[in-house]
This record gives sequence, C-alpha cells and structure tokens, in this order.
Amino acid sequence: MTALNSNLSKLKKFISRYESSGVMNHIHGQSFPSRSGETFSTVSPFDANPICEVAKSSQNDVAHAVSAARAAFQMWRDMDGVARKKILHRMADIIEERAEEIALCESWDSGQPIRYMSKAAVRGAENFRYFADRAPAARDGQSLPSPGLLNVTTRVPIGPVAVITPWNTPFMLSTWKIAPALASGCTVVHKPAELAPITAKILAEIGDLAGLPPGVLNVINGYGEEAGVALTKHHDIRAVSFVGEGRTGAAIMKQGADTLKRVHFELGGKNPVIVFDDADIERALDAVIFMIYSLNGERCTSSSRLILHKSLAGKFIARLCKRTEHIKVGHPLDPATELGPLIHKTHLEKVQLYLEIAPEEGADIAVGGHTIERKGWFVQPTVITGVRPEMRVAQEEIFGPVLVVIPFEEEEEAIKIANRTRYGLAGYVWTNDLPRALRVSDAMEAGMVWVNSENVRHLSTPFGGMKDSGIGRDGGDWSFEFYMEQKHVALSLGKHRIPKIGVE
Ligand code: NAD
Repeated sequence: MTALNSNLSKLKKFISRYESSGVMNHIHGQSFPSRSGETFSTVSPFDANPICEVAKSSQNDVAHAVSAARAAFQMWRDMDGVARKKILHRMADIIEERAEEIALCESWDSGQPIRYMSKAAVRGAENFRYFADRAPAARDGQSLPSPGLLNVTTRVPIGPVAVITPWNTPFMLSTWKIAPALASGCTVVHKPAELAPITAKILAEIGDLAGLPPGVLNVINGYGEEAGVALTKHHDIRAVSFVGEGRTGAAIMKQGADTLKRVHFELGGKNPVIVFDDADIERALDAVIFMIYSLNGERCTSSSRLILHKSLAGKFIARLCKRTEHIKVGHPLDPATELGPLIHKTHLEKVQLYLEIAPEEGADIAVGGHTIERKGWFVQPTVITGVRPEMRVAQEEIFGPVLVVIPFEEEEEAIKIANRTRYGLAGYVWTNDLPRALRVSDAMEAGMVWVNSENVRHLSTPFGGMKDSGIGRDGGDWSFEFYMEQKHVALSLGKHRIPKIGVE
C-alpha cells in the first residue's frame, strides 16, 4: 500500500463520524445542532466533493455558548493554577495521542500538505504545555511600598473571551490562542473558520476528556457575518482574540465598540525578504523558497516579496525558478506533496486575479502563473519578476504560492521598498555584515525580523505585527497580559491622616 493510500484509509476511519453526523457546536461539554437546525456544507479543497455538514449558528446559539462560558467563569478563575496546569498538560497528552487524527483531518479539511500538518498536533501540544506551565504564576504581582501604604498588584483573568480563527493551519492557531486564555483563567467561546472547522471540534472533545469543566471551552460554528458578529457584540464577552484579515479586524473593532471590548488582532502580511550580495546564498535560497511555498503560501508570515540585490539577480532568479518548477504539487495526504490545493474556489479565484493583474501591470511571470486544470483548487507555484514596489502584486496580500521579485542597489533603497506597504508583520534579512543586519532590522517596520533565518518559532518571544498587521503580541507573558487585568490593592500600614470634610 502506498503512503497516500494508507493515509486515505486512516482518514476514512477518522472522518466518517463527521460525514455522517456533521460538525456540531460544543457547548457546556455537549454537542448541539444550531437551534434553527440549519447547516452548511464544507467541501474538500482536493476534489471539491462535500466533506460534512456544519451547524450554522445564529445569535441564539451564540447566547447559549456565552452563557455557558459565563457560568463556568468563576469556578475556573478561582481554581488553583496548579490544578489548571494539570488539566492543560493532560490536554497536551491527548493531543499527542490523537496526533495522526488531527493531522489527517486538518490536511483534508484545509488542503494543507500532510508533511506540514503532521507537525500541527505536536505544535498544538507544545502550546498547551508552555502556557500550562505558566498558569500557577499567572496571578503573581508586585509589592510597591509607598509612605504609609503597602501597594500590591495582582492579575485577574478578564472574563469569558471570544477566540476567532481563520482556515489556514486552524489547529495550530487555535491552540496558540486558546491555551493561554485557559491558563490565565478565562473561559472561551471559540468560533473557528467556516471553511475548516473539524479540528476545533476535536480540541473541544480533548478538553472534556482531559477534565476541563463543562463550559470552560465552547465552540460555536457558523459564518462570520452571523455567528462572528453576534459573538463580538455580546456584552458578556470581555475580549476578542482574532486571527484573520485586516478588514475583518476593523469590522470586529466596530462591532465590539458599544461593549468596549479589548481586542487582540493577528492580521495579514506582505512580508519582505531582503537578500544582500554578501549573504550565504545557498541558505538564503532555501529559506526564500520554503517561506513562500510551504503551507501553500497561505501563511501570514510568508516571505512574499523578495527584495534582491541587483548583482545577484541573474543567477539567483534562475536557480529560484528551477527549484520552483520542481515543487511537487499534489494530493494533500501524500507525504511527497510539497504544495496542496488552496482552501476554496473563491480563494483560488482571488489568487488567479493577481496572476492576471501582474502582466497587466508590466511584470513578467517567470514560472507558473496558472491555475491547474483538475478538480479542486490548485495553482502553480509562481515567481513574478520585473516587479516595481508600487504594483498591486507587490502591495497586496495574495495569500498563495506567489513570490514577487523586486531588485535593489543600495541598502537605503532596500529598506524603503521593504517598508512601503501598509503591512508590518514579519521581515527577513540575509547578510553576513553584522552592522548592516542590525541597521536594517532596526529600520524595518515589522513586528518580527529574522536575520539569516526562516521563521523559527520560539514560544517565549513576542509574536505579532505593526501597522495593518495587527494589534498586540502573543507568546511568553504577552499572552497573559491580554487575557488578564492588572489590579492594584493598597493596604494602609497605620493611621495616616484622612482629609476631613463636612465637619460642623
Ligand atoms: P477572515 O478574516 O475572512 O476570517 C477569519 C475568521 O473571522 C473566520 O472565523 C470568520 O468566520 C470570522 N469572521 C469573518 N467576518 C467576521 C465578522 N464580521 N465578525 C466576526 N468574525 C468574523 O480571514 P481568513 O480568510 O479566514 O484568513 C486569512 C487571513 O488571516 C489572511 O489575511 C492572513 O494573513 C491572516 N492570518 C494572520 C495571522 C497572523 O498571525 N498575523 C495568522 C494566520 C492568518
């Protein structure tokens, strides 16, 4: 049996229950259809065949989930951090036990190649373990003595929170948001993306199995315009942690304004990778290719703009094009596949539009440039050269396997080009000149910069973007800062003078 056939037969076993019973909401530890009974269908990005029916939630369903999260909040908030830590570690254990199921379902639901999704569960478990370990100290504060008073600070969880996630690597992203929320003592209503909802349901079940009390983690399925809007407007939701498009983030800000929601946004990017002429070219080439074509290019931190020193242009581009031509496009469950189908027809059409815009703007398609004639939403890995910084293909997030190449001569020029978009998520710099690396990374308008490296995750570092790429940071204590309120308590140490007024 080939590795693909073996994966297909395992997938069948895992996915059959969703095919027969659908993906329902998860509220107070139980499965619920939407109150209206309405569902919508998801389809496989590989062959456009239906996968399953999903609960289409409206305001009533959201109210049900939020009331469960609210009812569970006090008990979860007051639970000893060590006890919370144990439950979250147990969740990590079960995630690892079910790693294969998570990987195969995620790959089938999202079209992401199994070679990357096989790490999704491991990373999800890492997220849980990392934040679980910090749960016992999450409320720790400081002592700030002042004359006559002992001031102490502590942190308290903010309350029930909404976590709203997109369809690219949904399991990894959900655990990255939900683990610190739970570790800090918040209860959660999770609204996963409508296009890839299966692993959110698995995570909620894992919570139940691990002993997470009912109501602490709830999942509500449905469309953003309906379920998402109701969730972000709900007065009992104290904060919204959102990963997705900038336009949606702006809408959420407005929707949450009347109830004064705290928001945390991880949004889009058009991330530059600058390659200087003194760089380690072999490593730079590997990283450039990996950071645009892995995860189907549907990656917020993908290096989608190659800003290349003019002296390198000929040889580097020739090698880049050759490697791109050899990227293995195929079935997402085949371990040999390097590029799978895009998530959905509408997304494929969006990517296709940019492939048409590029030559209209005067750029050249050096490799790829077309959708692939087969069932499912496949596009060729593409390199676009002759790009000027102001072109739409250099300014707008394509969110697919499309790399644009912009030449530069001087360091200043490279920095200008890098900063000339509305985004500011990640940046990558390749040079062996240390002062230059420091100068350029300091000047880059990006929340995260990697020097001589692809995006390597480290959970204690701040993750997030500047400009239109986001608000707030995840990772380390930054995640807890978002999910918790600072509190100051002042204790009088004696009988200091209190001003008397209204005395006869
Ligand atoms: P999207 O904004 O369309 O949807 C994300 C989620 O928001 C979905 O669950 C959707 O149902 C919900 N939603 C939509 N409208 C809503 C509304 N009015 N109110 C509340 N919820 C609403 O994003 P997408 O297309 O699913 O994901 C792709 C985008 O996500 C890209 O721009 C990508 O860069 C970004 N992203 C960013 C990061 C990061 O860390 N910065 C990570 C992954 C993805």
